[in-house]
Amino acid sequence: MPYLSVVVPIYNEQANIPQLWDRLATVLRGNFQGERDWEVIFTDDGSKDMSLKMLIDIAAQEPRVKVVEFNRNYGQHSAIFGAFAQVEGQVVVTLDADLQNPPEEIPKLVAKVEEGYDVVGGWRQGRMQNDSLLRTLPSKIVNAVTRKTTGVALNDYGCMLRAYSRDVVEAMLLCKERHSFIPALANSFAKRIAEVPVGHAERAAGDSKYNLWRLI
Ligand code: UDP
Ligand code: MG
Repeated sequence: MPYLSVVVPIYNEQANIPQLWDRLATVLRGNFQGERDWEVIFTDDGSKDMSLKMLIDIAAQEPRVKVVEFNRNYGQHSAIFGAFAQVEGQVVVTLDADLQNPPEEIPKLVAKVEEGYDVVGGWRQGRMQNDSLLRTLPSKIVNAVTRKTTGVALNDYGCMLRAYSRDVVEAMLLCKERHSFIPALANSFAKRIAEVPVGHAERAAGDSKYNLWRLI
């Protein structure tokens, strides 16, 4: 039974998957073994490129990897939910595939959960240099609205490098809304919430799948 489940939504990420898997496997194999074994669950969210085949090839070589295949594109948060339904670990980490979230930060998030927090959000540092104003301004608006509507003041609601206790994931799975915004939903079920500073890079390859309209 794995202790840590890492969840990654994938939509047309063929150019990023080799480096992502290389870095992820190094971090997980180096930090989690024995009693604290790991698994990775990739959801292929209806990719039209080679992503799904690449993920299946990885899973064929590493039994700790599972692939959830969607019939079409449903969006990042639905893709994460598809993987949540399969997690076996006590601690669950989500991460983007484009290497904007460094996999090397995973042990730091897990350590924070082990301190007794049930939701741990990454707080992206150095964001302003790496993302365009067109991408950071909508995020600022989303952050402000989420803060107001959920009553939880977090610095960074948009960072998907996050960790959850299994209980919070199970509570989220009981929610049947189809368009959940996971960071806000998680906070409504959390008792103790923390944020930890995490690195943030430019998207390694390909384009953002978001525009102002999808964010809204
Ligand atoms: N993603 C997905 N389905 C979508 C859009 C995005 O699974 O419809 C995945 C994408 O492959 C990546 C993550 O969600 O792993 C974040 O997407 P993106 O980097 O495009 O978002 P941004 O960083 O611009 O917010
Ligand atoms: Mg991205």
